[in-house]
Amino acid sequence: MFQKTLKNTVRCTGIGLHSGEKCYLSLRPAPENSGIVFRRMDCGGAVIPARVEQVVDTRLCTTLANADGVTVSTVEHLLAAFAGLGVDNAYVDLDHAEVPIMDGSAAPFVFLIQCAGVVEQRAVRRYLRIRRPVSVGHGEKKASFYPSDGFKVSFFLDFDHPLLARQGVTLDINETTFIKEISRARTFGFLNEVETLQSHGFAKGASLNNAIAIGDFRVLNDGGLRYDNEFARHKIMDSIGDFYLLGHPILGHFQGVRSGHELNNQLLRQLLQHADAWDMVESSPVQQSSQTGVRSAAARLVAAPVRPAMAMAY
Ligand SMILES: [Zn+2]
Repeated sequence: MFQKTLKNTVRCTGIGLHSGEKCYLSLRPAPENSGIVFRRMDCGGAVIPARVEQVVDTRLCTTLANADGVTVSTVEHLLAAFAGLGVDNAYVDLDHAEVPIMDGSAAPFVFLIQCAGVVEQRAVRRYLRIRRPVSVGHGEKKASFYPSDGFKVSFFLDFDHPLLARQGVTLDINETTFIKEISRARTFGFLNEVETLQSHGFAKGASLNNAIAIGDFRVLNDGGLRYDNEFARHKIMDSIGDFYLLGHPILGHFQGVRSGHELNNQLLRQLLQHADAWDMVESSPVQQSSQTGVRSAAARLVAAPVRPAMAMAY
């Protein structure tokens, strides 16, 4: 019911998937209502809020920029870990333009956040509730939100490849399912595309240590896959991270068909343009219904939906 931040500061280092550059990363506690805020310490502490309106590029990863053009890229896996573990407010200090890819999944960030510890703050958490269906898409790609009491995600992918044909997952997302079913799913790429990507400045840091490499007929990584449908699960993780750019957890059902960062961003912008499609509430119906007997004091706070000033901010 209440917002959360980190208890302590934690640090890690790693390389960027696309830049190949080494980056030091610190996750720090932040005050109530801060949201997730990136700070480029190599650019005088330039602040880049993790918000939809800061998204400037969605090719192969999600890149944010502030008004001065200072960027931070590949933010989605770290944001997914914050979303999955219910961290509302944190500073992310880094000394390079790309968040380290770590092992290609959100699991190392989950571990970092668990090491830092999570503490409740005094301000009430607000959820963005989907009120009516919203969809974007083109060709065979589609991304939609539907009303739902909790946060639910369905994803379907279908590549022209024997390992990635018709793979679908539906999950109710909470801290437990995120950690167990989603957080360990790694990013992936086709071996025959690596040279092309690298010639365009992408995937310079990619290796078998931080991505699933897909050959013509098999996965090339030792040990194979972590989940039988790891690819669809990773796409779900990307979506959870991208959607945390709303600045609030979602009460709704996301359905993605062959979608990615670009369509995720279009869906968020489409949603926010239609004020009748969403509202803000101060608790989740799922949490309320899980109360046994008398509703808690926090649940009683939820007298009516609120539409705060953020509706103007987008
Ligand atoms: Zn990803």
